[in-house]
Amino acid sequence: MANITNVAVIGSGTMGNGIAHVFAQHDFSVALCDVQQGFLDRALATIAGNLDRQVKKGTITEDIKKKTLAGITATTDLSAAVSTAHIVIEAVTENVAVKKELYRRLDSLTQPHTVLASNTSSISITELGAVTGRPDMVIGMHFMNPVPVMKLVEVIRGLATSNDTFAIVKGLTEKLDKTPVEVNDYPGFVSNRVLLPMLNEAMYCVMEGVATPEAIDTVMKLGMNHPMGPLQLADFIGLDVCLSIMEVLHTGLGDTKYRPCPLLKKMVAAGHLGKKSGRGFYAYS
Ligand code: NAD
Repeated sequence: MANITNVAVIGSGTMGNGIAHVFAQHDFSVALCDVQQGFLDRALATIAGNLDRQVKKGTITEDIKKKTLAGITATTDLSAAVSTAHIVIEAVTENVAVKKELYRRLDSLTQPHTVLASNTSSISITELGAVTGRPDMVIGMHFMNPVPVMKLVEVIRGLATSNDTFAIVKGLTEKLDKTPVEVNDYPGFVSNRVLLPMLNEAMYCVMEGVATPEAIDTVMKLGMNHPMGPLQLADFIGLDVCLSIMEVLHTGLGDTKYRPCPLLKKMVAAGHLGKKSGRGFYAYS
């Protein structure tokens, strides 16, 4: 594969705008695509705001900010976004049907040597690869939120992902000044398989009256040196997202140890989704 210079990022939400930001800041030419111009406008405003913060902190110059913004072309035209891309990073809504439909289209709209990488948190890379004619070139590139700040990228090998594809994505991750970690395609990969059961267990502690949310978070912050307590973190991630990841682990691995906490289910049913809804284990104004 030729030197990778052209990157298409599909989906400009929380993760997509951060991914476009870091690629453009590292001199890649980025096409950012979403289904509505309004979403793209919001993403570009978010990127500009985050770059301003970096300039204020002194981590980048005003010139780098301008160059980064100039390196991103926003479009609602999927074909235009991907036709010259060397790699596509897909960061659309976490929904299997939406992603599979997109991978079928990407397979026909991109050049045959274009790598298709997904930022999914929980959907099987093997399953996404299987709807294309190039499963060897489909891979997971799982960035962490917030993308410009977090160093880790889980690089997930689907059953058919080739060594060449893995090497390309590993190299790209390093060019972004991030650390790639190789993992295989199993439910929740490593990050969510290890993190979410801990959050779920903290919720059981609340449900069973072992301690208050504040007490549980204090134990984990002061006792284990975690920067954030598990219940505060669950509120930040979104309790609906936590529930759906626990369901993926429970269904995919078939072990009762992954059963979602009934209190989590009840809170999601009540619309208490954490920070984004103003109420979760804590109240937000
Ligand atoms: P989001 O809802 O903020 O953004 C998704 C964007 O995709 C929306 O703007 C939507 O309009 C767009 N979209 C949907 N279908 C599309 C299509 N067919 N073509 C183009 N754009 C389309 O979601 P997010 O939080 O950014 O998550 C995106 C992906 O990243 C998901 O797979 C999620 O699991 C994963 N992820 C999220 C986080 C997180 O903390 N939010 C962390 C790691 C990975």
